[in-house]
Amino acid sequence: KQPIQVIGGGLAGTEAAWQIAQAGVPAILHEMRPKRFSPAHHTEHLAELVCSNSFGAMASDRAAGLLHEELRQLGSIIISKADEHAVPAGGALAVDRGQFGQDLTETLSSHPLIEFRRGEVPALPEGIVVLATGPLTSPDLAEDLQRLTGMEYLSFFDAASPIIVGESINRDIAFMASRYDKGEASYLNCPMNKEQYLRFWEELRKAEQTELKDFDRETAKFFEACLPIEEQAQRGEDTMRYGPLKPVGLSDSRTGERPYAVVQLRQEDKAGQLWNMVGFQTNLRWGEQKRVFQLIPGLEAAEFVRLGVMHRNTFINAPQLMYPTLQFKQRPTLFAAGQLIGTEGYTAAAAGGLLAGRNAARLALGQEPLTAPPTTMMGALFEFISSASPKHFQPMPPNFGILPELGAKIKNKQERYGRYRDRSLADLANWKDAVLKMGVGV
Ligand code: FAD
Repeated sequence: KQPIQVIGGGLAGTEAAWQIAQAGVPAILHEMRPKRFSPAHHTEHLAELVCSNSFGAMASDRAAGLLHEELRQLGSIIISKADEHAVPAGGALAVDRGQFGQDLTETLSSHPLIEFRRGEVPALPEGIVVLATGPLTSPDLAEDLQRLTGMEYLSFFDAASPIIVGESINRDIAFMASRYDKGEASYLNCPMNKEQYLRFWEELRKAEQTELKDFDRETAKFFEACLPIEEQAQRGEDTMRYGPLKPVGLSDSRTGERPYAVVQLRQEDKAGQLWNMVGFQTNLRWGEQKRVFQLIPGLEAAEFVRLGVMHRNTFINAPQLMYPTLQFKQRPTLFAAGQLIGTEGYTAAAAGGLLAGRNAARLALGQEPLTAPPTTMMGALFEFISSASPKHFQPMPPNFGILPELGAKIKNKQERYGRYRDRSLADLANWKDAVLKMGVGV
């Protein structure tokens, strides 16, 4: 049997290669380190954790914890090794990164169906391929990928605004409207009077920023069009009021008056459970973002599923390019997973690697690739990245806002999350056999 080529030995690629081999199909795993390092990687290990050593909250009624549990049930090597090398971290799944990376490197290198090749892959090879080269994909390969996707569908920089859970927005203050009443009312608008605006402006100017890495600073220079909101505040008292906070064409239907300034929120998902702060790309520290953005009328109790970031991040426009099976529409023998497809975080990358790896093996065995149930956290993530609006696509971490709503309204959040968890694990149990019962001759 022709081996499947997996490009990138990060979180997603390591999981994918393992899953292919466990399905009885040979895999070649290509990793460019240590011959070539990305600006953020420093070791030779597979699945290097480039920053924090945490995979997020462990409890299964939290979004990250639910995804851990789903992966555990499906035989993920990343989560199994994370469990094995866990260190105490107050409710989070954190690992000894050295032991974790070393163990994975040894485990995969000694698998009889995995050939581990150190070296950069500069162009997409023929055959069945899983692409998992992450947010810092090497420039030659990114260029080749761009030939396949088209220039406009591959981004090199992530200037993402915060995303807020819809039910945490105070609708007694925020109102639905579009500027000049054009088309359907599709924005939620948080109105400010002069006093509220000036206080917000003052706090934004004083707020603490993150230290940009050199490679992010270099890339950011090319993105004058998406100036951080705090930079706009620095440029003058009214700069934001002539920019993303302009109130023109908007009046509060309850008072009939035009606010002094308006923060607009755009719907992020089909069900309207998630809202994106328009024009709020930012480099502020995460704690500072929460403190200052909660001063905006209507957002006092805002719950953020993702805070704003501005950093180098290679990712494709997955809604335009991919099926939820993690295959490219243009080339179904090409699979992709990890940060490159716009899922965010270590655990989401492992989840992508698991599905892409299993599906690549299925294709090699003449079986139909599978779609994960959308009621599971992993299924919801892949449903989101393959069906979100291509125009405003931004990477997404695991969160409960992307899951389909439960039949009944449950006010208590903890209880609701528990119900999401129960539904996910029940649906996963039915699906698990289809994923795992495979192998040569099955
Ligand atoms: P990676 O883990 O980056 O793996 C990609 C691999 O592909 C790398 O090993 C790379 O060397 C290799 N590669 C690239 N190009 C080629 C090529 N042409 N040929 C062969 N090999 C190649 N997420 C978190 O959850 N927590 C964090 O704290 C966090 N901090 C981050 C900090 C930085 C600076 C960056 C850039 C990202 C951070 N992320 C964090 C996001 C993180 O990148 C992902 O969560 C995770 O690493 C994604 O896994 P991946 O497999 O997609 O990519």
